[in-house]
Amino acid sequence: MTPANDPDRYDLDALRESLLDERGGEVDDSIPALADADPDLCAIALALPDGTVRSSTDADVAFSIQSAVKPFLFALALLDTGGEALDRVGIEPTGESFDAIKLESGTGRPPNPMVNAGALLTAALVDGEGPTARSARIARGLAAFAGRELDVDEDVAHDEHLLGDRNHALAHLMRAEDTLAVSADDAVAVYARACATLVDAATLAVMGATLALGGVNPRTGERVVPEAVARDVVSVMATCGVYDGSGRWMRAVGVPAKSSVSGSLVLSTPGRLGAAAVSPPLDEQGTSVRGRLASEVLSRDLHLHSFAV
Ligand code: GLN
Repeated sequence: MTPANDPDRYDLDALRESLLDERGGEVDDSIPALADADPDLCAIALALPDGTVRSSTDADVAFSIQSAVKPFLFALALLDTGGEALDRVGIEPTGESFDAIKLESGTGRPPNPMVNAGALLTAALVDGEGPTARSARIARGLAAFAGRELDVDEDVAHDEHLLGDRNHALAHLMRAEDTLAVSADDAVAVYARACATLVDAATLAVMGATLALGGVNPRTGERVVPEAVARDVVSVMATCGVYDGSGRWMRAVGVPAKSSVSGSLVLSTPGRLGAAAVSPPLDEQGTSVRGRLASEVLSRDLHLHSFAV
């Protein structure tokens, strides 16, 4: 292997530099804390099976995890319900935007854990009596995926709880369909707090690696979830992780991933590595423009595409 295709030696800062002139996309402005994000932030990180984390400039800059938390909420819900979560949420790709006001026809279940309806539900399925206990359970679970304690941006949690009208609508719809057991307000509060968890690119890469490596955190050695849970989660990331852009993503990048409105992407290449690519300006599907370009280049150079022979 040469440095150009070896994850241990790959020049992440050169890749980052090559992306800085890309000016496409818009920073999300759904809440003030997100609208203030620095559009020039750009970070890439890789987490490898031996626990090594390789990162570019900016990979220690904190941002709220937003929808990149959804795979981990799904994992915790599968773990805490002993797999019953699979009866409570669909797993077909939706082909719709992240906050589409739509439930699965016939069942009234949320269609997929990678869209908001599904994540509101998985966040409600984890262990814990009441919203404070469930948020604490999620914080412990995310810390195990990350290999360190994670703070919450209280302004983001507050604003998303208060201003997330579509999430409140989805939660009420699930109440009406009898598919959400907790109150709509509790569900939104817990989900908003999970989205407000602060990570950086290096940490997010470790979280992605934990899923990619069958549920064992490569830095701490802790088994966070069983192998079957990790495989289920990565499968659903592959088919719906980039919402209505998932088909194009799979063709171009070929790595299971999850996008978010803060401009982060978490990637899990089964058996190989976890990665994060972060930059706030988003395309029409809510995917980071520079993050996507970085992922395409990494996939090509490091031979990460699932279907490349
Ligand atoms: N917290 C955001 C929301 O629910 C997350 C959405 C996202 O990152 N796509 O609106």
